Amino acid sequence: MKIILIGIQGAGKSTQGNLLAEKLKIPYLSTGHIFRNLAKEKTKLGRYIKEIMNAGYLIPDRKTLIIVSDYLKRSEYQMGYILDGFPRTVPQAKLFRNGVDKVVYLKVSDKEALWRLSYRNGETREDETLAALRNRIELFHKLTEPVLEFYRKKKILVEIDGEQKIEQINKDILRRVKKNP
Ligand code: AMP
Repeated sequence: MKIILIGIQGAGKSTQGNLLAEKLKIPYLSTGHIFRNLAKEKTKLGRYIKEIMNAGYLIPDRKTLIIVSDYLKRSEYQMGYILDGFPRTVPQAKLFRNGVDKVVYLKVSDKEALWRLSYRNGETREDETLAALRNRIELFHKLTEPVLEFYRKKKILVEIDGEQKIEQINKDILRRVKKNP
């Protein structure tokens, strides 16, 4: 099963992605993670990606598509996956040729997401300054919300209240991805 997770930063995509991976026995991957790894490389591509990420902007669609499609060719993803962070724009969704079974939208308000991110325990990331966070939220509304519409029309969008307890969100997702919309 190929599942896509969509939500603003702080919506709980990686928490839910990891839980789903465990329960459905399919791997979880995030484009944020792929890009952060690439940004560590001391190559021209690495430096280019780092600069865009730290400003809170998106990597251009064509580049993103090539990198993600290439990554998904790895053997561990052939039986399915839970993909977080892609597609983020309508052109990415339209050009993606890998097949998608269900798209899960984890719905959380901007206020709740900012609150969660400001109080997130542990690591502070270089690409998580308040300005970069605000940029990402703005980009989500402008560029990613139309992606929800794209999948809604295809009748594979599942909308989940992401402001509930972690276990309840997980139960809701499992129930909804296992049945037809
Ligand atoms: P994330 O951890 O998902 O917030 O991703 C971190 C950063 O990686 C984003 O702010 C973008 O700069 C970049 N990124 C991740 N996924 C995409 C995507 N699908 N398209 C363009 N840029 C992306």
